[in-house]
Amino acid sequence: MGNNDIKRVYLDCAATTYVDGGVLEAMLPYFSEEFGNANSLHSFGLRAEKAVVEARSKIAGIINAKPVEIYFTSGGTEADNWAVKGVAGAHSKKGKHIITSSVEHHAVFDTCKDLEKKGFEVTYLPVDKEGTIDLGALKAAIRPDTILVSIMYANNEIGTVMPIKEAVKIVRERQEKGQKIYFHTDCVQAAGALELNVADLGVDLMSVSAHKFYGPKGIGFLYVKNGVKLERLMTGGNQERNIRGGTTNVPGVVGMAKAFELAAQRMQKNNERVGKLRDKFVERVLAEIDGVYLNGSRANRLPNNANLSFEYIEGEGMVYGLDSEGVAVSTGSACSSGSLDPSHVLLALGIPVGLANCTLRFSFGKDNTEEDVDYAVEKLKKVVKRLRDMSPLFNQLPSEKFKV
Ligand code: PLP
Repeated sequence: MGNNDIKRVYLDCAATTYVDGGVLEAMLPYFSEEFGNANSLHSFGLRAEKAVVEARSKIAGIINAKPVEIYFTSGGTEADNWAVKGVAGAHSKKGKHIITSSVEHHAVFDTCKDLEKKGFEVTYLPVDKEGTIDLGALKAAIRPDTILVSIMYANNEIGTVMPIKEAVKIVRERQEKGQKIYFHTDCVQAAGALELNVADLGVDLMSVSAHKFYGPKGIGFLYVKNGVKLERLMTGGNQERNIRGGTTNVPGVVGMAKAFELAAQRMQKNNERVGKLRDKFVERVLAEIDGVYLNGSRANRLPNNANLSFEYIEGEGMVYGLDSEGVAVSTGSACSSGSLDPSHVLLALGIPVGLANCTLRFSFGKDNTEEDVDYAVEKLKKVVKRLRDMSPLFNQLPSEKFKV
């Protein structure tokens, strides 16, 4: 970016966060003096194994699970892939029908698409304009051959929180009649913001990734309720009770446990503080810039998320414009191999393609301040004005229509 003097405001915490100081401190010894392989029998290995055992038990305690129900993975993507493919592979004799939502992260969505090519049938539940599934539609979608329901707890683009407990209840009603259906929830965005008590939620499988709550990248876990059979995704060594091969990422595991512990401790206070900042930001943007729409639910969303569409300006242009002013955000749409794919999430909400491509996600974090909010709003107004002034479509409108 060149200019080192400008203020930096990071509003992309849903994409990733930095590693917290206390987390890094906890991890550091396991990169150097305590470098042992947790599978080795000598004392180096035993010390590494002890750290892994402690981390597993800390994580299990936070989600009210047993340590043996925690399986370490390389992150949220692997945990999601494993949950969906693992249940599909292990239970396909009972049925080949899966239910998910139309707004899942690609780690679940594309995994389901892959399974369709392998003979599975998938129902993608529609969502309302706030991004919430209809529980009646879930009930109606369950068939005698349904083996898995996978619904995310909180959406990564629009922050909508799904009624997971109620959805689990519907699935359990079928189970009481003798049908075994597993319930998986992607909690990658929910972790750190929502209580993840597996007994209370009633889920069988849950995915979490450390880098969303000030832990390291490339480490996550899958909670697998005792007794749930999963096909292995990774063949190799005998790690993770022989069903997920690969030398354990000891510093990662230690860092994730520490970050998860800190996130649980500060959750309530942080949610209140971040929620206020987000609300102030949204109020100011809606009041001071015309042609802006808030996507997703107003009430029922993650406290740190604001997803906004800006008429007549393409999202990538705004990201670059804001970046040059020191403000980091992301688009609501995925950009792949140079072509713009409108977000499947925004389209599922009924947002037209044109507007979906004019969308930004602002996601706040524990260190943001009121000053950051004011700075970001001012820079946003400047960038929006500049891009709208350059837009041929915008310039055809009567000039008095828009404030910025
Ligand atoms: N699921 C959701 C909801 C996410 O937001 C993400 C990452 O953004 C993932 C899964 C993938 O997690 P990871 O980056 O750890 O692979």
